[in-house]
Amino acid sequence: DPRIARISNAIRAIPDFPKKGIMFRDITTLLLDPAAFQDSIDLFVARYKDQGIQVVAGIEARGFIFGPPLALALGAKFVPLRKPRKLPGPTVGVDYSLEYGTDRIEMHVGAVQAGERVVIIDDLIATGGTMGAGIALIDQAGGKVVETACLIELTDLKGREKLGNTPLFVLVEYE
Ligand code: 5GP
Repeated sequence: DPRIARISNAIRAIPDFPKKGIMFRDITTLLLDPAAFQDSIDLFVARYKDQGIQVVAGIEARGFIFGPPLALALGAKFVPLRKPRKLPGPTVGVDYSLEYGTDRIEMHVGAVQAGERVVIIDDLIATGGTMGAGIALIDQAGGKVVETACLIELTDLKGREKLGNTPLFVLVEYE
């Protein structure tokens, strides 16, 4: 699919960000290219349009860029999965471990109903810790995570293995 090469070409690599030795994949350059940005949304819409998806859950922050256009195209709800203490109402949350220390993601109580069919979206999967926590959070609410979706997979980090039986769909892979 020629769209994949266009998307990949629009993603910028920035060495030594946020610290030395890290090659950061920057999707803000994709957002500057409306045709390539549209291609990325179209590929997700084509993947999920006939799967009865009721909820698109987007992970803060860049899941908030790609999730809403997908949710609108599917006629699904959009649910933000947020960093701690950002959501104003009652929340449920899941703690997860990072290289140093722990983090947490939260969502509003009642945002996802038991039995609803959910896709969780983020820009990138690295170690899989964040997406794994997203799955645990939706599970906790009784939602059914049909699939997880990212633009980018850093394959060497084997994040997929942290997702258990939940499938992962990606557009672009880097080592
Ligand atoms: P993980 O939990 O899989 O190790 O890290 C994935 C999370 O960190 C995602 O929310 C993603 O947005 C962010 N992240 C980690 N590395 C990068 C990167 O190189 N580029 C971008 N855009 N996000 C990253």
